[in-house]
Amino acid sequence: MIAVMSFPTRIVFGKGAVREIPGELTGLGVKRPLVMTDRVLAGNGLLDRLTAALGEARVQHVVFDGVDPDPTGATVERALAAYREGACDSLVAFGGGSSIDTAKAVRLLCAHPPPLAQYDFVAEGWRLVTRPMPPMIAVPTTAGTGSEVGRGAVVTLAETGRKTIIASLALIPSVAVCDPELTYGLPAWLTAGTGTDTMVHSMEALWAKGFHPLADGVARKGIELCGKHLVRAVRSGRDEEAREGMMVAALAGATAMQKGLGPAHSLSHALTPICGLHHGIATAIVLPAVMEFNLDAAAPQLAEIAVALGEPATGDAELLARRGIARVRSMLREMEIPERLRDAGVKEGQIPLLTEKAFQDGCHLANPRACQPPDLEAMFRAAY
Ligand SMILES: [Zn+2]
Repeated sequence: MIAVMSFPTRIVFGKGAVREIPGELTGLGVKRPLVMTDRVLAGNGLLDRLTAALGEARVQHVVFDGVDPDPTGATVERALAAYREGACDSLVAFGGGSSIDTAKAVRLLCAHPPPLAQYDFVAEGWRLVTRPMPPMIAVPTTAGTGSEVGRGAVVTLAETGRKTIIASLALIPSVAVCDPELTYGLPAWLTAGTGTDTMVHSMEALWAKGFHPLADGVARKGIELCGKHLVRAVRSGRDEEAREGMMVAALAGATAMQKGLGPAHSLSHALTPICGLHHGIATAIVLPAVMEFNLDAAAPQLAEIAVALGEPATGDAELLARRGIARVRSMLREMEIPERLRDAGVKEGQIPLLTEKAFQDGCHLANPRACQPPDLEAMFRAAY
């Protein structure tokens, strides 16, 4: 068997790293970036840190602040029009996963023909990503998706009727600039949602099928960092050590997930468009049910997760695995994440449609225990 392992991203990390962006743009040989962000960040002063750094260095740039929380094909088209009208030569994505993912899709369409749906990962659309694309810098303002080092973008497309994953190694941002200071003001619920998402990236990567010992090591480290810092960062947003730890954890999760993800993401990818749940919160609520489902197929990995979260390494794998699940449940409670889908506004009558959409999602294909529609439905019902 041949394995492909890839750790290519240049990462500029640390408090104040945002001021390094002009130099990074010069290094990439570009002069006029489109800054892509959302209205919240444009309005609350956070974006000013980036535009001030660009202004001081006299970097001409165009700001597009119309990224939607869950980007659609229309969001991408509007941003692409801004890129072309502004005669830009590069992209700086500033925000959470939505801004970074939208920028990846714009970058793709700068050099490849529409429609975006033809690049759907499930349909092996990555084969069509062949042309050179404009450079891109990703500046995350959450410690969450890790899209700054990831190859994928999630966009809801009318043609597919679901959250569609577009992925190619060529879409990994040219540079990730990670400045933990940008996350100090993140509200507790968003810290909890994005941070748990990060933890689930590492967990699902660890138990995913396939040979990738490097990703396994990175995933273990990501889980350990979440065990130490996640609840702390939720409790106290200005805990600098916890914020920095979570920003590294986000990088770890997204680096590890090149090995694969699992059903927590398939379930979440259905819950967000159908029930309006935040991706990270949805992933968090279904996580214990997914761990229970994997108890037999992935007991050794679940035991490793327990130890990485801080459980003493005593007892057999199954016992440890069960302690890991209990630990995750108590972390979720401490962060005040709703325990059941019904507490988050999901209706029981939605479960058949949720099951259908989750089965169409490709993430569960990497799970060590195969997921048929009745399995996914059982996980939804257990989480409900
Ligand atoms: Zn995720």
